[in-house]
Amino acid sequence: MKYLSLWLKDYYDSKISVLDKNLDVDVLIIGGGITGLTTLYELTNTNLKVALVDADLIGHGLSSKTTGKINYLQELVYQDLEKKYSIEVAKLYYESQKSAINKILTIIKKEKIKCNLEQTTSYVFTSNEEEINKIKYEKEILTKFGANVIDYEGNIANIDSVYAIGVSDTYVFNPIKYLYSLKNICSHKFPIYENTKIIDIKKDNNNYICYTKNHFIKAKKIVLACHYPFFLFPYFMPIKTHIEKSYITASKASYQKITAITSKNPCQSIRYYQDDDSYQIYLTNSCNLCNHLDEGKNFKDTVKDAKDKNLKVQYVWKNDDLITMDKLPYIGRIEKNNDNLLMGTGYNTWGMTNGTLAGLILSDIILNKPNKYENMCNPLRVNSITNLKEFICNVLFNMKGYIQSKIFKNKDWYSNVRIENINGKSIGIYKEGNKTYKVYNKCPHMGCSLIFNEVEKTWDCPCHASRFNLKGKCIKGPSKYNITYRDK
Ligand SMILES: Cc1cc2nc3c(=O)[nH]c(=O)nc-3n(C[C@H](O)[C@H](O)[C@H](O)COP(=O)(O)OP(=O)(O)OC[C@H]3O[C@@H](n4cnc5c(N)ncnc54)[C@H](O)[C@@H]3O)c2cc1C
Repeated sequence: MKYLSLWLKDYYDSKISVLDKNLDVDVLIIGGGITGLTTLYELTNTNLKVALVDADLIGHGLSSKTTGKINYLQELVYQDLEKKYSIEVAKLYYESQKSAINKILTIIKKEKIKCNLEQTTSYVFTSNEEEINKIKYEKEILTKFGANVIDYEGNIANIDSVYAIGVSDTYVFNPIKYLYSLKNICSHKFPIYENTKIIDIKKDNNNYICYTKNHFIKAKKIVLACHYPFFLFPYFMPIKTHIEKSYITASKASYQKITAITSKNPCQSIRYYQDDDSYQIYLTNSCNLCNHLDEGKNFKDTVKDAKDKNLKVQYVWKNDDLITMDKLPYIGRIEKNNDNLLMGTGYNTWGMTNGTLAGLILSDIILNKPNKYENMCNPLRVNSITNLKEFICNVLFNMKGYIQSKIFKNKDWYSNVRIENINGKSIGIYKEGNKTYKVYNKCPHMGCSLIFNEVEKTWDCPCHASRFNLKGKCIKGPSKYNITYRDK
């Protein structure tokens, strides 16, 4: 069994180019996941000077750890949107997801991308009798929108279910193969730099200056496609969102073409995948990032869950995503009347469609073209947080993350990990054989304490999901800084 995303098992390294000079461009895209690469792709037919940078390898962020569903049947999102906004907004979201799916299909066809794309029926199901009416209502809404929705009764593969609805015009694919192809296509036109992290952005007259460790990039426009913006102001993301994590297994299994997700949390989700072997992919144990902090236990429970379903696990990994309060993504301008600072995030675990949608909206804003979904996804919409109760809950959850991090940092879950106070600073110490690794145990983003992740050998922030390796190097944002500690 490997602690690795199934999609990264055949990871083949293409040429990696690291930024080695200063640049001057019209548009700088920060982040090479589905958001950044789709935006870049949409700009390939323009005369703009565009560059994309990624702190890591292209596609190795959250996009390489999804279940790879291209789906508009997303739990009970349409009734949630009707309740929060109106049936018209629910319909607009439905149309946006359908048009993102069409976009992915068009790109795959036009560019002849081999990414194991398969059309499949996707289900939303429940094992709880009380949920049945809600699922039936989702069917009613979707039918009004023109979707062809079927009913299903009985178990979903090896998971208990009493009722499900399904739609057949949805897809699954291998996300990393798709993203690598986008990278290759776009790199013929634009420079793409990997292992190139932006650590600061400053405004300079009509330009932005984006700094890496050794160089800077001057850009007229910036697209933040880095999942979690790495600065707090002006957007202050933590009070508007929370992060949810889930654990995923892939097990060799006989080919059973089923794709499904539960109607509500705690989420269970399955899909199949076929390349040289066939796999069942099973997602479980989803929760708010600040809960269940012992990652060793979480991974063990996940593998046990899969074993209880007679699955022989080959790969196990975790992923997290940003959840917005109103279930709509944040795509567009970060500042009012400023077309030059843009972002795409908050995909509520549906980033294959919403990341593609972001690519379409952001490229339209850059090219000064209207986009019918721009308003709906506007990150500055005030109504995403007008529900005071939800807003307060969100703030409290963020505080809970902070407090939990302080309480749990000293838990002696692992004998080779301890926290010590050295010269008034909290230091995380990990011992492996005769090697000792020390890091500052404080996330530079907002000061939460870090919890050791025994499985992946990282220090993880339970508040906003920054991660650091044993030597203290930041391997995932929003933190922009390392936590390296050196004995004096
Ligand atoms: C368990 C789980 C399962 C999911 N399954 C699905 C699914 O089946 N279908 C679906 O539609 N969605 C799914 N999602 C959601 C999806 O994974 C995400 O929404 C999506 O991948 C986000 O894409 P992104 O481009 O915004 O981020 P990423 O793919 O993370 O890309 C951001 C990139 O920015 C880079 N970066 C960050 N900071 C900097 C910096 N300072 N400088 C330079 N680069 C930087 C990172 O290295 C990274 O490569 C799932 C989510 C979870 C949690």
